[in-house]
Amino acid sequence: MHPTNNRIADLIPEIRAWRHWLHQNPELLFDLPKTSAYIAERLREIGVDALHENVGRTGLVAVIKGNAEGPAIALRADMDGLPIHEPSQADHASRTPGAMHACGHDGHSAMLLGAAKYLAETRNFAGTAVLIFQPAEEGGTGARAMIDDGLFDTFAISEVYGMHNAPAMPVGKFGLRAGPILAATDFFYIDIDGKGGHASQPHHCADPLAAANAIYNAVQTIITRSVDPVRNGLISITSIQAGEANNVIPQTAHMKGTVRNLYDDTREIIERRMREIVAGVAQTHGVRAKLTYDRLCPVTINHEREADLAADAAERIVGADNVDRHQPARLGGEDFSYMLQAKPGAMIFIGNGDTARLHHPDYDFNDDALPYGVEFWARIVEDRLPLDR
Ligand SMILES: [Zn+2]
Ligand SMILES: [Zn+2]
Repeated sequence: MHPTNNRIADLIPEIRAWRHWLHQNPELLFDLPKTSAYIAERLREIGVDALHENVGRTGLVAVIKGNAEGPAIALRADMDGLPIHEPSQADHASRTPGAMHACGHDGHSAMLLGAAKYLAETRNFAGTAVLIFQPAEEGGTGARAMIDDGLFDTFAISEVYGMHNAPAMPVGKFGLRAGPILAATDFFYIDIDGKGGHASQPHHCADPLAAANAIYNAVQTIITRSVDPVRNGLISITSIQAGEANNVIPQTAHMKGTVRNLYDDTREIIERRMREIVAGVAQTHGVRAKLTYDRLCPVTINHEREADLAADAAERIVGADNVDRHQPARLGGEDFSYMLQAKPGAMIFIGNGDTARLHHPDYDFNDDALPYGVEFWARIVEDRLPLDR
């Protein structure tokens, strides 16, 4: 089945051109001068009723009023890229060395712009569509910044919806689930301070590498021994840095990594046990070790009713066979979780087809998904804010 909205089909070449411009010009976190200026320019051309800039530093909020009064519902896209070099030779490849849109936020922003154009032209709804273009999703602080700037109060938002592309899910399919859908995401850093010296005299040293090795292994027992196996999480240590020379025991070692899980109690247990293990190993090895544990974003929990409504809207576009209402949760993180803590809503996955995985240098948003995403946004607004209420 193919999207059926002819007006949206007509808009796709223009939306694709926006997507390609955004892909060529990736920017990071809150530092989005070109991106937010470009999106703001498009929104002015489109003729939205109000455009608020610098919400949550570089975030944008556009307001489109329907043909009758009614409540306000919010649609959210993210705008930032990643510090990854893009090897692609495509015309629309990144023109900024060391940065690329490897998570598809270029596609997310372009689809929401497309929806803005459609909704501003047609206005077949009773109420207000609030379009949120969020900075700094990677790193997990952009949504918080916009909420702290009064996002939900200023615009009297009653529901909020988010969409993320999903590689390996065929184009034209949608998926979501009620309840936990994406993980709480924490970053940690372990700094070990030992006593360096000659490699031939380990007995005069306190080897930080031995301590790092012990910590590396011991923290995995949290997953296998401390956490309820059916409410488990993961700990990935992704960096260990220490030492230079063959014949020198280093003075310090530095580790970092990430913790993911879908349940608050699991998160508590993992952090507490990591603190105990780091302190215990440090004592055993005669080194000092400091754990810095940063909670980036909580579990993304779809509200039951809004998850159903989002699935219904997707079903009207692609049919029931192409909407999976029972997607397994994933251990990726999303700071959209903060928006779902503030207001009822849901995040839905949209198929990106057979592309490289998210955050891979070969990844690219799939332009074939554009019409489905734009139509989903249009559909949810017209469904949730019907004129013939
Ligand atoms: Zn990402
Ligand atoms: Zn993303």
